[in-house]
Amino acid sequence: MDNKGKKVVKKGTQSVWAGEKDYLVHGATQVPVVHSVSFGYNDIDDWFEVAIGNKPGHIYGRNTNPTVQAFEDKVKELEGAEAVTSFSTGMAAISNSLATALTPGDRVVSIKDTYGGTNKIFSEFLPKLNIDVTLCETGNHEEMEKEVRKGCKILYLETPTNPTVKITDIERMVKVAREVGALVYVDNTFATPILQNPLEYGVDLVIHSATKFLGGHADALGGVAVSNNKEFIEQIYHYREINGASLDPMAAYLLLRGMKTLQLRVKQQCESALKIANYLKNHEKVEAVFYPGLEDHPNHDIAKKQMRDYGGMLSFSVKGELDSVRSFLPKLKYANKAANLGAVETTVGPARTTSHIENTPEERAALGIPEGLVRYSVGIENVEDLIEDLDQALSYIK
Ligand SMILES: *Cc1c(COP(=O)(O)O)cnc(C)c1O
Repeated sequence: MDNKGKKVVKKGTQSVWAGEKDYLVHGATQVPVVHSVSFGYNDIDDWFEVAIGNKPGHIYGRNTNPTVQAFEDKVKELEGAEAVTSFSTGMAAISNSLATALTPGDRVVSIKDTYGGTNKIFSEFLPKLNIDVTLCETGNHEEMEKEVRKGCKILYLETPTNPTVKITDIERMVKVAREVGALVYVDNTFATPILQNPLEYGVDLVIHSATKFLGGHADALGGVAVSNNKEFIEQIYHYREINGASLDPMAAYLLLRGMKTLQLRVKQQCESALKIANYLKNHEKVEAVFYPGLEDHPNHDIAKKQMRDYGGMLSFSVKGELDSVRSFLPKLKYANKAANLGAVETTVGPARTTSHIENTPEERAALGIPEGLVRYSVGIENVEDLIEDLDQALSYIK
């Protein structure tokens, strides 16, 4: 049951069925890709009523589209949200959602370990608009509480983080944000709605790069934001429709199709990631392994409390830094060496070329990202093969 007493089916069932039935036509069992840019009306009054939002319907593809709405509705149900809107990319979701709520003179508190692009918004773009940004040490909850209590408009979180998979206590942060009336945003890309639903803790806005786990097949870009505050989502939607960062119907279809296997994929990825993390931990060439499912991970207890499992992302550093990465990474047979994550294929890359390419070596050092850090996004291959593959590749490190 949800908070309104409505029966809610489990996540795997939602992944398959949620959001689709309103968009089926001609007895089709699958949602069509509606490529039409505009939607026509013979009745002038009907047209007007739809245009001003008094009647359901579509006007123009930059505003709404049926395929895009089916995708939105599926994410909304999976996150247990009241309202949703979508974007052309994850970064569009983040930038549009920040721009909607912020005005010059406002203050944002966040963490140092946000996604590289998000970090650039904080360090480069917001200060230009006279918006003050304070970035705290990720995982230092006392520092974050202190900064939030000084007053801020938005507390922006991402948990787990990219690429060192640090965890922030969402419940604790919502509590302190409430004291000062700040909005709380959470980038839930790494956890997916299968493992974590931040709205349950009173978070105001949950954002996903749908490009990653939601789509899961590395073939479509997209972003999405959900909230229990309908009015807030309407404001964000309005900013996006005018700003023009709308999701393409074909991308929406690919994301919708990918999401049908979301629970299956994430389950497999979590199971394999833990095995791989344990394997790497005991490898003589490996210096450190970052995975919240490991009991010696500094935030393991918080992860255990707010997540249903620990996710498909891990990272590790090898002895010998970048030279060692150069010698072993190309030897991996079952991994795309690419700047992506959350796909059915295992995907690897050094943080310096993927998540944090926008940063200088000095900035990366300050963020606690060793130059020899490898991000490993576990795919849905058989884990025995992935471990064997890592084993043969790591043997090339001298
Ligand atoms: C990839 C990513 C983004 C940005 O998403 P795009 O779809 O590439 O714009 C934002 N946050 C996290 C955590 C990501 O991994």
